[in-house]
Amino acid sequence: MTETPAITIPADLLPADGRFCCGPSKVRRDQIDAVVAARKTLLGTSHRKPPVKNLVGDVRSKLSELFSLPDGWEIVLGNGGSTIFWDVATFGLVRDRSQHLVFGEFSSKFADACAAAPHLGQPSVIKVDPGSHPEPVAEDGIDLYALTHNETSTGVAMQLQRPAGAGDALVAVDATSAAGGLLWDPAQVDCYYFAPQKCFASDGGIWLAACSPAAIERINEIGSSDRWRPASLDLQIALDNSTKNQTYNTPAVATLVMLDAQLNWMLANGSLAGMAGRSAASASVLYSWAEARDWATPFVTDPAHRSNVVGTIDIDDSIDANEICAVLRANGILDTDAYRKLGRNQLRVGMFPAIDTADVEALTKSVDHVVEQLS
Ligand SMILES: *Cc1c(COP(=O)(O)O)cnc(C)c1O
Repeated sequence: MTETPAITIPADLLPADGRFCCGPSKVRRDQIDAVVAARKTLLGTSHRKPPVKNLVGDVRSKLSELFSLPDGWEIVLGNGGSTIFWDVATFGLVRDRSQHLVFGEFSSKFADACAAAPHLGQPSVIKVDPGSHPEPVAEDGIDLYALTHNETSTGVAMQLQRPAGAGDALVAVDATSAAGGLLWDPAQVDCYYFAPQKCFASDGGIWLAACSPAAIERINEIGSSDRWRPASLDLQIALDNSTKNQTYNTPAVATLVMLDAQLNWMLANGSLAGMAGRSAASASVLYSWAEARDWATPFVTDPAHRSNVVGTIDIDDSIDANEICAVLRANGILDTDAYRKLGRNQLRVGMFPAIDTADVEALTKSVDHVVEQLS
């Protein structure tokens, strides 16, 4: 690694908050204040007593409100984050064979988990190169279609649509980086799962899943079968606990407090449409800036596939994107690096609802300054 060039970005160009990570992402001050306010009432108290159970209940009902979930849906939660939910789903949601749309690192992992599960048939995998996404295709014998709302490794987002002719198969969506920042229609989805460290600006380590009546029926069907399931990954146990506003084992209470505070802010500021509007405004700033530079290009060529919550910008090979990121970091602008495994000369920018559009604009001005100084 070469030494970082000594470039000072003028203070009037810098964002007020320099956190652009794609997860964990910027936590708002109010959320920290909520943790401090909870220091004697929630933190350090039993998760089986009313204060923490009411907090879990609040998170569940506020998420239902945010997503405008129809009657009969449930918010199910457990420990472990989205990666653990893939294992939960292989044990408790896929009956036999799943179909996976693979268009980046995260979407490939659930496909790998299903392929490796000895109790499941071989999944069907529809794969495209990073930078766009495939569409699901109804197929005989498939009982779960696995979609990814936003592929965080590439900055590709997709419209969620139940494939025509899918019958009673479930549509399960990895919405880890999309939930709370992109719009979706519950009629097109049965299980919308995520973790709270992206749009919800909290910490990781918990998975949450909005489940339709059909998904709940499937959970109960597999739950009453003789399939072996480790208790910590048992979706039936998680569902039974969640409807009692509990988790199977001890949750991270501070993470729930920060999630709840973010939900209050989201509901008070236009709910899901308001949040999607904030991210869309930031994305418009970022992509139009890149299009106006001859040394920067949005990586995702089809504007319809470009994500409003994770922006990926290719940088001309004559300029080292890692060097730009290093200078930004030295000036307090953090985590604008490309997803490592993608291996591109690229900037990747988190544009979750908590991130102010004015700060995205300031980031673009800061990058302009750095590039000018480097060349
Ligand atoms: C971040 C992310 C994950 C992994 O989430 P963990 O909570 O760290 O397991 C999975 N899928 C997508 C799309 C993500 O963005």
